[in-house]
Amino acid sequence: MKIPNRLAVSPMVCNYCEKSGKATERFIAYHEEKAKGGWGLLFTENYAITPDARGFPNMAALYEDAQIAGHAELARRVHAHGAKIVVQLVHAGRQTNHLMNTGVQPIAPSAIPCPENQEIPHELSVAEIRAVIGRFGDAAFRAKKAGFDGVELNGGHGYLIAEFLSSYTNKRVDEYGGILSNRLRFAREVIEDVRAKVGPDFPLLFRISSHEGMPGGRKLHDTRAIAMMLEEFGVDAIDITSGTYGDGYTVPSMAETHAWNADSAAAVKKAVSIPVMIVGRINEPIVAESLLKAGMADIIAMGRGSLADPHLPEKARKGEYDRIRQCIGCMQGCIGNLGIGNPISCLVNPELGHEGELAAAPVSKKKMVVVVGAGPAGLEAARAAAERGHSVSLYETHPYLGGQFNAAAFPPYKGELASYTSWARTELSRLGVDIHLETTFTRTVADSLKPDAIIVAAGGAPAVLNIPGIDGPQVVLAQDILMGKHTPAKTVAVLGGGLVGLETAVHLGWLGRKVTILEKVDRLAPDVVSGVLPALLQLLDHYGIQTVLNAEVVEIAPDGVTALVNGEKRRFPADMVVLALGSSRENSLVQDLQGAAPQVLVAGDAVRPRQALQATREGFVAGLSV
Ligand code: SF4
Repeated sequence: MKIPNRLAVSPMVCNYCEKSGKATERFIAYHEEKAKGGWGLLFTENYAITPDARGFPNMAALYEDAQIAGHAELARRVHAHGAKIVVQLVHAGRQTNHLMNTGVQPIAPSAIPCPENQEIPHELSVAEIRAVIGRFGDAAFRAKKAGFDGVELNGGHGYLIAEFLSSYTNKRVDEYGGILSNRLRFAREVIEDVRAKVGPDFPLLFRISSHEGMPGGRKLHDTRAIAMMLEEFGVDAIDITSGTYGDGYTVPSMAETHAWNADSAAAVKKAVSIPVMIVGRINEPIVAESLLKAGMADIIAMGRGSLADPHLPEKARKGEYDRIRQCIGCMQGCIGNLGIGNPISCLVNPELGHEGELAAAPVSKKKMVVVVGAGPAGLEAARAAAERGHSVSLYETHPYLGGQFNAAAFPPYKGELASYTSWARTELSRLGVDIHLETTFTRTVADSLKPDAIIVAAGGAPAVLNIPGIDGPQVVLAQDILMGKHTPAKTVAVLGGGLVGLETAVHLGWLGRKVTILEKVDRLAPDVVSGVLPALLQLLDHYGIQTVLNAEVVEIAPDGVTALVNGEKRRFPADMVVLALGSSRENSLVQDLQGAAPQVLVAGDAVRPRQALQATREGFVAGLSV
């Protein structure tokens, strides 16, 4: 297989298929957009090899012939743009549950439950193992028949093949367990079965986690040895990822380093002569290029980078680096949605999963559109309306674009949030959007301009508590602390243990302050997606930040805060109190502007406070609706 360039889209579940595993138009268009965007090699998501192999409800599958036609159309449409496409095959093993996989008990080499799905799996007999092996080969044969360019076996992230490879999940005492060569037997027999069914020339790739963060999990030294064996078994390329369910290493959040598998991939590359692919928080073309130049890998795969900007390679090729919309590692739309069984979306790319919406909505009559508010919802509303051909003016009371995104970029590991706002600014200027900073948009202004449409995306108002002392001079807002409007005192109480409260506390800890978080309910950060929370909790621990749950603040004094903790009155010394209590709906502007234009739409927190993920999509849809 010859690929047009070394940029690949790594395999990622998108949950866009039918429950039967057949391809949908949404699934095909999602891949096609990336092929149009210049990626040389696309990997599909995990295709289930049996009805009970899936780990997500709407995963693709190739376990029966009726599924071939739709997936053949996918291969055809991707090929039309010059890209290659490889199907990844999986059995989820123990990392699923009966609700996902036709009501049957998950299977595994040994009866040890997955830390996330928690169901005791059925320990496979040798006869059952051989039956599963045959299903891998059958699915690979169907992939070839459908016109794909190759297959990849998913031996990473703790799925069935990985479960056989690792001694922390494989406790068998037969020929499939024990020493490494026995634990490799399942993978070897799968490879042999696939090879026998697809022939000698059909590319066969293998994904493997370089290490598993679980106690007893496989480490790099074993993985390197396994890679050498895989080459001997006839594998054509190795795809290096990391982690397993429950160890926090599978999908790195924004708190983690870029290219975090680079050293592992380089170590494997030294031990084999077949191509090595790397994935893991690579979102800049120049970083990709540096990995190639340094000889650390042969193919650079981006997963979320391709969700955030399906056209990244094409923009890089043209040298339009500032037009690339970077993944910011927030996990809200991708991992956050998958975690609750939904189709994926993307915070910075509201068109993901709705490919072609913008192109399908050119305007027949150019309108004068006013967008009020330059937070994520307003930026997307202005961009979509301007991209369609409207004349757009954007009004913002603050001296900067980005709204709450601006402050949110200040905690130590969140700098990449600024890349979104910076990208939006470049796009709005390219599209000729007239930006008015430090300008309050009022009914009077609207009456003088007489726009055809107004989109109100002015955000919500910071929530405050109605308690004695709340108006003291030492009581400040979290966003003002983050943006350097106040010098933090030595001892600080942060009221609110949601995402903003935790991040502000980490920011203060990083600045050397002594911080206590007081949270009213019995857990921290119910609004934080699971992939981000462990890193945040580690940082709280690192900076020695005290957290107090079930704490209802009843009074603020100049030297501290009084709270009822589980009903008991307690006092927390603090020279400064930071409010991180979320937002409340603020719709007086919406009411003022009613009737000021033929169309008045509302988007983002101005509707009701939610995550930025909802704000960008809602703003984008508003921009499509004027
Ligand atoms: Fe990246 Fe966030 Fe988009 Fe996921 S939702 S692809 S983490 S920007």
